[in-house]
Amino acid sequence: MYKKINLKDQELAQYINEENKRQEEHIELIASENYVSEEVINALGTCLTNKYGEGYPGNRYYGGCLWVDEIEKLAQKRACELFGAKFANVQPYSGSVANAEVFMSLLKPGEKVLGLSLDSGGHLSHGYKISFSGIFYESHTYTVNKDGILDYDEIRKIALQVKPKMIICGFSAYSQLIDFKKFREIADEVGAYLFADISHISGLVIANLHPHPFPHAHVVMTTTHKTLRGTRGAIILTNDEEIYKKINRSVFPGYQGGPLFHQIAGKAAAFYEALQPEFKEYQKRVLENSKAFCNEFMEKGVKVISGLTQNHLFIINTKESYGLTGKECELLLAKLNITINKNALPFDTESPTVTSGIRLGSAAMTSRGFTTVEFKLLANLIHQALKNPNSEDLYKIIKKEVAKLTHDFPIKRQYIK
Ligand SMILES: *Cc1c(COP(=O)(O)O)cnc(C)c1O
Repeated sequence: MYKKINLKDQELAQYINEENKRQEEHIELIASENYVSEEVINALGTCLTNKYGEGYPGNRYYGGCLWVDEIEKLAQKRACELFGAKFANVQPYSGSVANAEVFMSLLKPGEKVLGLSLDSGGHLSHGYKISFSGIFYESHTYTVNKDGILDYDEIRKIALQVKPKMIICGFSAYSQLIDFKKFREIADEVGAYLFADISHISGLVIANLHPHPFPHAHVVMTTTHKTLRGTRGAIILTNDEEIYKKINRSVFPGYQGGPLFHQIAGKAAAFYEALQPEFKEYQKRVLENSKAFCNEFMEKGVKVISGLTQNHLFIINTKESYGLTGKECELLLAKLNITINKNALPFDTESPTVTSGIRLGSAAMTSRGFTTVEFKLLANLIHQALKNPNSEDLYKIIKKEVAKLTHDFPIKRQYIK
């Protein structure tokens, strides 16, 4: 458990401490979440939040940037080292904002983009009609095939028809590997930029457990808080100096004001951890655990989209497997202190607020020390719970098992020696 907070403002302190307790007592399976170390929290909770510094190191609109310049340069250097990139912008406030900044760098308003549809596993910011990306740009989509897998011939056909200026790959709910090389070949054939949004898989990429987007992508974006296990936020990477200049202009003054230096320090602290050998070992366990977790469900006849996982997450068709919507499953598992999210299936007929499936991820619980043994046990508990949604006695027993697991595997405050 993280340190309890003490504030004069007791109301706020209470809510923060309750959330701390909730995190400790719940099994976290949301694929986009993780537990940062106390080193990262300590870097985040500093005087850096006081400082204004619009601009970039050595070229700011404000005085007194001596030390924040060093912090930002350190974060940039570590980001480049981690991803083998020449240039990094570490200022983006979040992944969605970073995506808007990439769009602005490479496209004019109204130009065409091609991304994976939301129900196939894409992200809102990849062209969905109610996001900036679908409002200010002409967005087109490709989908997965009926087996839930990307069909590169089909994507090529759509790209040839649409002729987008930018193709987006990298997803929020896709459990197979991404062939960045094939995407680049398609992009080159139609004269498009290739933008890889590796928000979910960046930790695996760093550990060489997933193909690398470089040298294929023109631009790479990743959030820093998912498998990367750092502060909330994002970074944008490229090897092309001209594109880098454009990205810098669209981050500031294009979309953002002053950089959040406390957040940048949090990123730097997380990158330091990600550069240690322990991080690779952690990512190996994330992948091992995800596969064991998924296989355990599949052995029971549960329907997993695309039939396997090659990363930290997978999607279950709960309607077919249990006769339950994703929303119903989310509520049932919440009663057991198991946190998951409902997730649209490819070509889902339910609305995004209901859905026919759920998404499960292994990154967070692996941080707490779960091995394949605990993940297999957990698959059994979840399977029993969803098969018997009305059994109060069973739910009592499972809730006790969950309490034992969260007790035996507390949130760690340190990941490196
Ligand atoms: C999580 C995610 C984002 C958005 O990140 P936020 O920080 O929540 O804005 C963008 N793209 C992909 C693929 C994601 O999974």
